[in-house]
Amino acid sequence: MFDVIVIGGGAAGFYTAIHIAEARPHLKIAILERGKDVLGKVKVSGGGRCNVTHAEFDPRELVKNYPRGEKELLGPFHTYCSGDTVAFFEERGINLKIEPDGRMFPTSDSSQTIIDCFLGEAARLGIKVLKHSAVSAIESLPMENHETAWQITTIKHQYQCKKVVVATGSNPKIWKLLKDLGHSLVPAVPSLFTFNCKDKCISGIPGVSTMAEVEVFENRVYQSKVTTKLKSNNGKSAILTSDGPLLITHWGLSGPAILKLSAWGARVLNEMEYRFKIRVNWLPEYNFEGLMGLFSEIKEIEAKKTVLRTKAVEVPRRLWTNLVRASDISETDKWADITKNQLEKLARQLTECELKIDGKSTFKEEFVTAGGIDLKEINFKTYESKKLPGMYFAGEVIDVDAITGGFNFQNAWTGGYIAAQAIANAFK
Ligand SMILES: Cc1cc2nc3c(=O)[nH]c(=O)nc-3n(C[C@H](O)[C@H](O)[C@H](O)COP(=O)(O)OP(=O)(O)OC[C@H]3O[C@@H](n4cnc5c(N)ncnc54)[C@H](O)[C@@H]3O)c2cc1C
Repeated sequence: MFDVIVIGGGAAGFYTAIHIAEARPHLKIAILERGKDVLGKVKVSGGGRCNVTHAEFDPRELVKNYPRGEKELLGPFHTYCSGDTVAFFEERGINLKIEPDGRMFPTSDSSQTIIDCFLGEAARLGIKVLKHSAVSAIESLPMENHETAWQITTIKHQYQCKKVVVATGSNPKIWKLLKDLGHSLVPAVPSLFTFNCKDKCISGIPGVSTMAEVEVFENRVYQSKVTTKLKSNNGKSAILTSDGPLLITHWGLSGPAILKLSAWGARVLNEMEYRFKIRVNWLPEYNFEGLMGLFSEIKEIEAKKTVLRTKAVEVPRRLWTNLVRASDISETDKWADITKNQLEKLARQLTECELKIDGKSTFKEEFVTAGGIDLKEINFKTYESKKLPGMYFAGEVIDVDAITGGFNFQNAWTGGYIAAQAIANAFK
């Protein structure tokens, strides 16, 4: 018999258990982890460096990074935000540093620092960490005082507890258990992935990175399947747009501009089976007409020079070469020789480059799942289930996910902290 059982020994599970134990040291608390190790994702996170949170300390700005959860997280972030996370680690001797893009890492640049902190805290606070304990059943046991107790079954044992925290991440088996207990689930789809694309405009130049604007257009073949509410339709105007650094890879496109689209478009891109058209503006400061104006001046000034060697605009040299070639301009063509048609083609390739996306690939640094427990069924003041009193949630098990940058862990820390305070209050 435990007072509290936390199911899942990941980021959210440890953060919740530690905060409950800090607030109520006399409680008997256990973490049940199915694997032989705990904190597996923390270990590999941020390329082994663990991007703990993001240096965005205003809740109203912070929520803008959550395609799912933007509205619901505003209140929780007012209670516990990224600054509180920084303080938590600082109080335990771990300083976080801010990188130029706002991501925050331990100064050790090692995720092991975070793992050691959690394991040390759990030991200090007397939290039982039970590994090889995959939970296969959760049942509520009505008590005489109208409260509920919980019976938690693992392959080895049966446990009872007064409060249960579900912090199992994106685990389909637990979602199924919760569904059987009466919760609604938003179906899971991948988020944070890169786009596969084979097009001569980007082939043979992996590693090239530049600022760009990207628009996604519906694929007509899949139009009838798309049920997600879209901004526009008929394949004419963009259904999603984003901007930022775009990275050309061996297999297609990556970088923040693409990852943002993969997160905000997680559901609709899934419905289109990851086959759609994008339009890239490699020169966000120009549109087609503006660039044609610039080209007509360059045609006069650089008349005797070859187009290929005279890069007229600020794009990486290797990309310029590819786009010039894709515009049917030969290596020897001079600015004076090229036709209006060729110039228009080049201006289109630079400002409205159309690429066919055919599938997705995993983004190695970080990937998450969109979907989970329906947010309408959670009380965000306590992270308690509205359907099953006495059950709390934290982390990725709920239908919240964010773009890359440390925001996914912040969701785990905030939910874990608030659930812990609510549970501590229940044991007053
Ligand atoms: C490669 C990679 C890198 C990432 N890097 C970052 C990053 O740098 N910054 C960031 O913010 N986010 C990052 N993320 C996302 C982040 O890791 C997750 O959002 C976060 O781990 C979610 O925490 P969680 O505790 O909810 O779930 P998890 O970390 O997935 O933990 C859930 C735990 O529950 C256990 N469990 C599942 N089912 C059961 C069961 N039936 N019984 C018992 N235990 C069970 C699992 O084994 C696991 O240990 C990364 C993700 C990946 C995959």
